[in-house]
Amino acid sequence: MGDAGRGTAAPRAARRTARREPPPLAANSALFLDIDGTLLDLAATPSSVRVDLAVAALLPALAYRLSGAVALITGRTIADADQLFPGIVLPVAGQHGLERRGADGTLHVYGEGPPGLGWLRGELMHLVERHSGLWLEDKGATLAMHYRAAPGLASYVHRTARRLVATSGAAGAEWRLQPGKGIVEIKPAGRDKGAAILDFMAEPTFLGRLPVFVGDDQTDEFGFAAVALLGGWAVKVGPGLTRAQYRLRDVNAVRRWLAALLRQPSIPEVYA
Ligand SMILES: [Mg+2]
Repeated sequence: MGDAGRGTAAPRAARRTARREPPPLAANSALFLDIDGTLLDLAATPSSVRVDLAVAALLPALAYRLSGAVALITGRTIADADQLFPGIVLPVAGQHGLERRGADGTLHVYGEGPPGLGWLRGELMHLVERHSGLWLEDKGATLAMHYRAAPGLASYVHRTARRLVATSGAAGAEWRLQPGKGIVEIKPAGRDKGAAILDFMAEPTFLGRLPVFVGDDQTDEFGFAAVALLGGWAVKVGPGLTRAQYRLRDVNAVRRWLAALLRQPSIPEVYA
C-alpha cells in the first residue's frame, strides 16, 4: 500500500505497421497478457465477455512452463479479472497499473487518487442519464465510460470527458484520459500498463527474463514501450498502427500462438 506512483514515458509518436507474426516464446521469457481483445473477444460490456475453458486452461499451463513469469495486465479491476478466471491466481495488474498483485501474492495499491473524483463521477452519471446506450463503470480509482452500445455517441463522449478533465479545477493536471475501444476512462496520472510491467520485472520471479507483452488497444502501447526498454518485444492484436514489432490478427490467433508454446517438448532457452 502507498507505493509512490510512477508512470512510464508516453509512447513516442514513432509508429509502424507491424506485419510479422511473433516467434515462439523462449523459456527465459516473461509473458504479459492483456485480457479484453487479446485473450477474450470484446463484448458489449465487460461483464458479458465470454470466457471459454480452453483459455482458462492455457493460463496455468503457461505459468508452469515459464516458472510463474506470466502476468495479466488489464484495465479491469483485479477483483473483476479474478472473477473471469475462477480458481486461477496469477500475478495481475488492474486498472492500468493502479493496483498490482505480485508473484508472491502481495497487493500493491499506488497512490490515493487525486481530488475531484466525486465531481467527475457526478458529471458522468448525468451524462449516462441523458443518453441511452452509455454505461458508467466505477472502478474505485478509475471511471470508465462505455459507449460500445452507442457508437454514434463516441465523439460526443470523448469531447465531454476531455472537457470534464480540463475543467476539474486544480485537480485537472492530475487526471488523464485513457481512450480505448468503445470506452474512455478517466484515471489518475502517473500509472499505466508500462509502469506495471516494469514493477513486475523487478520481482524475483520475473527479474532477468525477456519481457513479452501482448495487447490490442491504445493503452497497451505503454506496455509495448516498457518491454522495448528492457530489450523485450511486443505483439499487437488486430489492426492499427503500433510500436509493437509483431502482430497477430485476432484473439484466436493469440490462443493458437500460446497453445503452440505448450506443444513444444522443451522450450529453447534462446532463439536460434
Ligand atoms: Mg484489450
